[in-house]
Amino acid sequence: MDQMTLEPHYADDCIFCKILTGDIPSYTVYEDNIVKAFLDISQGTPGHTLVIPKTHVQDIFAYDADLAAAVFSRIPKIARAVKASDPAITGMNILNNNGKVAYQSVFHSHIHLVPRYTDQDDFKMIFKDNSGNYTPADYAAIQEKIKAQLEG
Ligand code: 5GP
Ligand code: ZN
Repeated sequence: MDQMTLEPHYADDCIFCKILTGDIPSYTVYEDNIVKAFLDISQGTPGHTLVIPKTHVQDIFAYDADLAAAVFSRIPKIARAVKASDPAITGMNILNNNGKVAYQSVFHSHIHLVPRYTDQDDFKMIFKDNSGNYTPADYAAIQEKIKAQLEG
């Protein structure tokens, strides 16, 4: 395992690094040597939790495979605990915003666990169906552009 990425490394002026060092308090629900999970201050829905790597990494594009394996392997256990904390939770959206355009506002990578209660709760997500605008050739061209960029 690549110890360089798993060793804690903090960035100046990062509020989540300040949470990691204890300079900003948080309602922590889980932590180990790799991740810290704490309540999102906004509580988009009750129980809204953030899971962050204990080392500063800006976004998903900056993870290596070892850090990703270590961080993402913790998600199901934390998600199950959040879900089990309230019988009214019937589902969960798990989100990871990358880049300002994708609604990232804190540039220390984090995974949102958003418990869902009903289709009238305070969380909404819209996937527009644009399939009518795409021919098979359009799909194939996009497929090839992505495949050409795969590492390793
Ligand atoms: P993003 O928009 O980057 O995906 O999500 C950042 C999240 O961090 C927001 O949902 C916001 O409520 C949360 N947040 C920002 N500052 C703090 C803080 O100081 N403490 C906690 N617990 N959450 C924060
Ligand atoms: Zn940070």
